[in-house]
Amino acid sequence: MRLPRADLAVFLCRCGFKTHSPAISAAPVDTLNRKIAFHARNGDAESALRVFNSIPSPSIVSWNSLLAAFSKSPGKLRDALQLFNRIPQPDVFSFNTLLSCHLLNSDLLGARRLFSSMPVKDAASWNTMVSGLSRHGLIDEARELFVSIPCKNSVSWNAIVSGFVHAGDLTSAEDYFSQAPDKQDIVLQTAMIAGYMSKGDTERAWKLFKGMSMRNSVSWNAMVAGLIENGQAEEGLKLFKKMIASEEVQPNPSTLSSVLLACSNLSALQSGRLIHQWVSKLPINFNCSVKTSLLSMYSKCGNLFYACKVFEEMSVKDIVAWNAMISGFAHHGHGEEAIALFEQMRGSSTKPNSITFIAVLSACNHTGMLELGLKYFESMENEYNIKPQADHFSCIVDLHCRAGLLQKAFYLIYLMPFEPHPSTFSTLLSACRIKKNSELAEFAAKKLVELQPHNAGAYVQLANLYASMNSWENVARVRKWMKENRAVKIPGCSWIEINGSFHVFRSGDRVHPSLELIDEKMGELWKRMKDAGYVPDLGFSLHDVGDEQQELMLMRHSEKLAIAFGLISTSAGASLRVFKNLRVCGDCHNAVKYITAIEEREIVLRDNARFHHFKEGICSCRDYW
Ligand SMILES: [Zn+2]
Ligand SMILES: [Zn+2]
Repeated sequence: MRLPRADLAVFLCRCGFKTHSPAISAAPVDTLNRKIAFHARNGDAESALRVFNSIPSPSIVSWNSLLAAFSKSPGKLRDALQLFNRIPQPDVFSFNTLLSCHLLNSDLLGARRLFSSMPVKDAASWNTMVSGLSRHGLIDEARELFVSIPCKNSVSWNAIVSGFVHAGDLTSAEDYFSQAPDKQDIVLQTAMIAGYMSKGDTERAWKLFKGMSMRNSVSWNAMVAGLIENGQAEEGLKLFKKMIASEEVQPNPSTLSSVLLACSNLSALQSGRLIHQWVSKLPINFNCSVKTSLLSMYSKCGNLFYACKVFEEMSVKDIVAWNAMISGFAHHGHGEEAIALFEQMRGSSTKPNSITFIAVLSACNHTGMLELGLKYFESMENEYNIKPQADHFSCIVDLHCRAGLLQKAFYLIYLMPFEPHPSTFSTLLSACRIKKNSELAEFAAKKLVELQPHNAGAYVQLANLYASMNSWENVARVRKWMKENRAVKIPGCSWIEINGSFHVFRSGDRVHPSLELIDEKMGELWKRMKDAGYVPDLGFSLHDVGDEQQELMLMRHSEKLAIAFGLISTSAGASLRVFKNLRVCGDCHNAVKYITAIEEREIVLRDNARFHHFKEGICSCRDYW
């Protein structure tokens, strides 16, 4: 099969600089430089370029501000390099900015080369290199460089300590922390708090936090978010309330965003709602980024209604807010609403960026709008001068998969101007499983296994496909392959928040205190589901046991246990929100549809990829996920 020319053109099209005819401006250079810096902070390189082009004789500050605008957006390294080469006399600031850009774009070779060829290095150049290397996991190289810094300042110490924290090497982090000339440095102490928290050592984090002579909002953040992330949500919220009451420091937008992010990651809707209540009495409640954090929290915790409410209340909406709402709709399977909102945004003064298009394309995906998706994809370069990245290509592959155009999806992967992400192959594999195309499924699975040999996902999907085709020989072959590669199945785990506390269930769990009641409820449901026409799909159970045993194992999948527990712990008619660490399995997906019809409840199930809204026997994903 050959790919139509038009598709090829879309895929292979590259754009260079978009030039604007300079309009001579009467404003002083300083004012225009400030404007460029403003656009740089918002990551809006194009507007920055437009202002720059209006300056008749740009100063080095103008050049550097423009370079900063290009360096801050990922994927613009080539543009930044071209720009750098045009700067008449780059200074150390220009070099440092380009150095960060290399590191931001993971071009370590380029960064090393630039660093060693720099005519002058200041403390910032060394520090940028040390933290860039450690961020990329090259902690040994970072350490070597750190030792040779001629003019170490507090930032250098922070860079190396944070580097070790990031690498998970807390012993070395502590070692360097103890050697630092100023151990009372707030940034340094906060890095250590974050380190202790990342290892689950809340006790030592507390000790350090209590002993701090001064604390800023970042240290409070690290402590509050750390407690929530370590399952001590109540303690975290208590501390957060103390922070609000304290004279010492007031929560700022970034405090809020890290605390609300902790709630989102845990799907702790009730904690998030409490924070919303407290914040609504503070002046920062009107801050755009605080509102955006709140709306993201609601959306990620499964409550799209409140997310919409917060969005509607916002008097000023920046690009981040629009993106959060559009992707909220997309994740929840409300493709039409996402597209409508995008169209509304296009009519406003806010211009879409690369992230907007990921949200829009995935909205097209979730609702199967192939033609529209392709139209938006083309408009990225043609109308907005945004070069598609690997994530955008993955969405296009997904769109074709969903439309059943598997061969075409295969060619698109083949022609991608990027190394495809593992998720791209996993998308193709899922589609092959649904459409029962074993030939392409083998291809996708092989690629996935090459990239992640120990991840059981690919083998399980492939085996499920063969099981659904009753090809047991192949099921056995895939299982053998999986064993040979020592692939590990990540255990399925689901959780539900009831009255502010979390109940976590693992598949086959026999430890929950309400186990008997859960079993009883599940048994009752099973019977009523079967009466309504439900047939357990034993193809999803990959074990060598009899049918009866297989059915029991299916009944005890973590999401079913969490739902049964939710049903017995809440009043009739209340909707349930369940979260799962892995992709929801086909049998559970089918079973939940029956449960919503029988129990007359709405159930929201978030798996590792998306939200499934079940209502009256139907799922918002329309059975494609
Ligand atoms: Zn299941
Ligand atoms: Zn679904």
